[in-house]
Amino acid sequence: MSKTLFEKIIDGEIPGDIVFEDDQCVAFRDINPTAPMHILLVPRKPIPRLCDATDEDAPVLGHMLRVAPQIAESQGLGDAFRLVINNGEKAGQTVFHLHLHIIGGRSLSWPPG
Ligand code: IMP
Repeated sequence: MSKTLFEKIIDGEIPGDIVFEDDQCVAFRDINPTAPMHILLVPRKPIPRLCDATDEDAPVLGHMLRVAPQIAESQGLGDAFRLVINNGEKAGQTVFHLHLHIIGGRSLSWPPG
């Protein structure tokens, strides 16, 4: 299977503005930010969509939820940030490598579009 865009960023084959990485996940700035701070946190494992994750993936999913607030803090967002996962094309997913959007740096309204 061919690599997704995000696998290529993880593997250093295309440039990414990486702000955090560890053995399980990598975070980089979104190329088309919807807010002053818009970071994508992705597992190193190429899980296409959240609904494709298995029980085996529970540790990395939990890890990502622990790491996301730390990234937000390190980027100066404090406790004011939003986490979004678009699951599937109809929900707006365009890159089929699971990713958590970390968004902040402006006032965020609800509900999202
Ligand atoms: P999705 O719509 O939830 O799948 O989010 C995909 C995100 O990837 C979008 O916010 C895009 O702006 C972002 N994106 C696409 N290509 C790149 C890239 O090369 N570097 C960083 N972000 C990207």
